[in-house]
Amino acid sequence: MNGKISQWKDDKGFGFITSDDGQKIFFHISSLTTRDRRPEIGDLVIFTAQTDKQNRLKASKVAIEGLSKTSQYQRHNKVEPKTKNGFDYLLMFALSTLALLAAYTYFKLNSIEDAIVFAIPAVIALIFLGRQKKPKSRVFNCTKCKKVEHFDKRTISAWNRGFTRLYCNTCHVEWLRNNPSQENNYSSSQQSKGCLVAFTLIVGTSSFAGYSLVSWLVQVVI
Ligand SMILES: [Zn+2]
Repeated sequence: MNGKISQWKDDKGFGFITSDDGQKIFFHISSLTTRDRRPEIGDLVIFTAQTDKQNRLKASKVAIEGLSKTSQYQRHNKVEPKTKNGFDYLLMFALSTLALLAAYTYFKLNSIEDAIVFAIPAVIALIFLGRQKKPKSRVFNCTKCKKVEHFDKRTISAWNRGFTRLYCNTCHVEWLRNNPSQENNYSSSQQSKGCLVAFTLIVGTSSFAGYSLVSWLVQVVI
């Protein structure tokens, strides 16, 4: 069937098509078969009309005229998880060695100045380890609505925290609205134990570095 988009709620991801024979038909963004951009009011569309379980009219396979179809390749953008490279392993090795040396010089040799020499590069190594990386692919499929989306600041940061199931902005906002109190659970539910270890290391090393620095300053001042 042919029609025109007469209503579109971008934040909710649904709208209505007025068909050429004058019927008003519901459609959801997940039934879109074209890519490149989101629907807009006035778009001419080709679609298949269906009735749902409650016997209401619903459009499926909605194609916006003039836009290219989503290919199979485009539909399955697998998000590769973040991986560590040689540089990361080198940093981890340097970090643990430096932290050990700092602890040793501080507690065994009681030399705060020497401990700082090791603690400061350890903190720098930590900062490098925590740096953000970019995913290989520039796009991903929204886990919920399957729409192809470009990575942005939010999704890159989520990917860096170990997520491979990502949501488009519409679904993310929708999710937050439905689960306002669970925002924290959402962020932490998929984090691996590796993050916990890294976190402990970060807190441990920085507090140690901070403590040594303060003790050193106190010594210098007095
Ligand atoms: Zn989505």
